Amino acid sequence: MTKPTKVQSILDRVLAGDRMSVDECTFLLESHDIASMGAAADEVRARRHPDNIVTYIIDRNVNYTNVCNVVCTFCAFYRRPGAADTYVRTFDEICQKIDETIALGGTGVLMQGGLHPDFGIEWYEDLLRSLREKYPTFQLHCFSPPEIHNIHLISKLDYETIMARLKAAGLYSLPGGGAEILDDEVRKRVSTKCTTQEWLDVMRAVHRVGLRSTATMMFGIGDTVEHQVRHLQRIRDLQDETGGFTAFIPWTFQRENTALGRRIKLEPTGVDYLKMLAVSRLFLDNIENFQSSWLTQGLRLGQVALRFGANDMGSIMIEENVVSAAGANNSADETTLQFLIREAGFTPQQRDILYRHVNRDAQLEAVMV
Ligand code: SF4
Repeated sequence: MTKPTKVQSILDRVLAGDRMSVDECTFLLESHDIASMGAAADEVRARRHPDNIVTYIIDRNVNYTNVCNVVCTFCAFYRRPGAADTYVRTFDEICQKIDETIALGGTGVLMQGGLHPDFGIEWYEDLLRSLREKYPTFQLHCFSPPEIHNIHLISKLDYETIMARLKAAGLYSLPGGGAEILDDEVRKRVSTKCTTQEWLDVMRAVHRVGLRSTATMMFGIGDTVEHQVRHLQRIRDLQDETGGFTAFIPWTFQRENTALGRRIKLEPTGVDYLKMLAVSRLFLDNIENFQSSWLTQGLRLGQVALRFGANDMGSIMIEENVVSAAGANNSADETTLQFLIREAGFTPQQRDILYRHVNRDAQLEAVMV
């Protein structure tokens, strides 16, 4: 009998129920047997989601402003305050985008913006309250940790007070953006936005007030495997503490039109992406849902990701302005996502922001009765 490789031994132990250590995670990310890692991640995905369903959401990214107070060298979206092509969306413009989303069967909006120097908490409360009044059941998934930290700096309120007030105003959940790599060695080189500890503290406050959030990772911005593993460890630790993350969504840096992209010559490859997805599915044993980032990886690799640990195809992306400004120009409608999911051997199912299944036919029938 041949002895199992070290990769296979780690995978066997994890499949038997042991928690992966930091050293094992590092070893896997530095090794190359992605077929075995993908098979193990697929097995864990199947155990977590035995119904063979892959979900997707119909929502829309709305960016309420591109004005931003800080500089991130990986970002092609922001404009400095006072620049000629800055914008702040009006309430009517946001409502028009929501109306279009609802017409397509959408259940929510992912709303984020730059870090506007003049917007205190009242601005965000007014916006949420007005939207909740007009769309009482539409899910407002808004404002990543850097925006919450910006409110903290402007309004001089602690994170928990901010989150409690935004929740009372109608906030439904928080997107996990702005994490990039949760290690200050990397963050400080590429951004002046909130630190690792601040990002984690915002998320702790989000979960403490009873809201859920996603967690993300954008790698390939000068990070090493050690930085990536520290990121995963910090997410796993916080999830052990709060249980508030609904999903983990890794993707790779998109370089076009960015200052960092002109300096970093090598981008993560498809293999790097699939390996990160599979290893994070195995390492983050306390997170239920993993999303394929077809927007950044393309539809074909995004589909393959469904066999590397992902159980969710993300959003149909009616509108996206941030990573598309940096070169990710993939698009898909609902029929395309359903087709890709079926062709990968799964049953497609629309979900809401908390990963609950949405039955549009039943909703329509209820309206007609
Ligand atoms: S990533 Fe966000 S915080 Fe950074 S510059 Fe872009 S808009 Fe501003």
